[in-house]
Amino acid sequence: MTTQRQSIQEAAASKFADQDSYSADLQELITSWEDYWATWLALRDTTVAQARFLRALHDPESRIPIEFQNDWLTLEQQGHDLLHLLETTKLSNNRRSDLFHQAVETAISYQRQIRELLLKQQQNLGDLDPVTGLPNRRRLSQDLERELARIQRGAGACVAMIDLDHFKAFNDHHGHFAGDEALAAFAAFLQQSLRPYDGVYRYGGEEFVLLLPGMTGASASRCGSRLCAQLASTQFHLANGTPYALTMSMGITPLSANTSKDTALVLADRALYQAKTAGRNQAVFYQDTSAAGRGFVTS
Ligand code: GH3
Ligand code: MG
Ligand code: MG
Repeated sequence: MTTQRQSIQEAAASKFADQDSYSADLQELITSWEDYWATWLALRDTTVAQARFLRALHDPESRIPIEFQNDWLTLEQQGHDLLHLLETTKLSNNRRSDLFHQAVETAISYQRQIRELLLKQQQNLGDLDPVTGLPNRRRLSQDLERELARIQRGAGACVAMIDLDHFKAFNDHHGHFAGDEALAAFAAFLQQSLRPYDGVYRYGGEEFVLLLPGMTGASASRCGSRLCAQLASTQFHLANGTPYALTMSMGITPLSANTSKDTALVLADRALYQAKTAGRNQAVFYQDTSAAGRGFVTS
């Protein structure tokens, strides 16, 4: 039996916290920038506002998530250049000069840039589930659309619907907070057990969806069975040290050019229902019989 430690659970949920903290850092950047900008426009002393803006630029350096570090570096460089330009312009105090117009245009474009990043980040945050750090159903819908477009161009993919077995009993036994911990640990387990380009989504409650690009029905079935067996033989631990185990049931179906994303999810759910009624802790593959003359295959 393999052991899944607490640090892995923390990694899953802390992904959301990182995104949340980045959003707060962008928010402080825009607020401090606006404060500086208002002070500059009013020709007041900018010393305090400038110091706050510089802190907002530099304090977050060590906690910017890796995928945004380039954006942040650009904001830092442009922020410094802009401050230099605005402070120089302030000294000349000529509102009709070309330098003044250039400074105002640069400042407005800088402000727009931070706002766009903040907006993008807020949308991103809205697509993440706070309990597990996984993308939610809204992102799944977008990704399924994209995957279906690839299918039209000849690629293959499967979708899997997962439901934890007897999770109500887990909550009844360990409590709802422990249930949340288990959901985060399970999310981390799925992410670690799949390829980096597979999609793992929290569909709702104790239900998850996998998007498996490039997989045929046969390879997705093997993958599903492997995951079920691997999960059943993993020992997890709650933060208080209590050991526990989980099992899951999974329904898998291929994405095809003539099925909509909703139909694919319905078919995967139908296969999941079969996995439950067949005794749980297993993966069932289902291919629409009208499309390929095949029905359920328990793996
Ligand atoms: P089955 O094997 O048939 O799926 O049994 P089950 O007990 O998992 O199914 P059921 O649908 O009866 O219960 C699902 C449970 O999942 C009930 C609910 O309390 C729990 N659950 C759903 N969302 C959350 C959540 O966000 N946190 C916690 N802790 N529990 C949740
Ligand atoms: Mg359920
Ligand atoms: Mg369940």
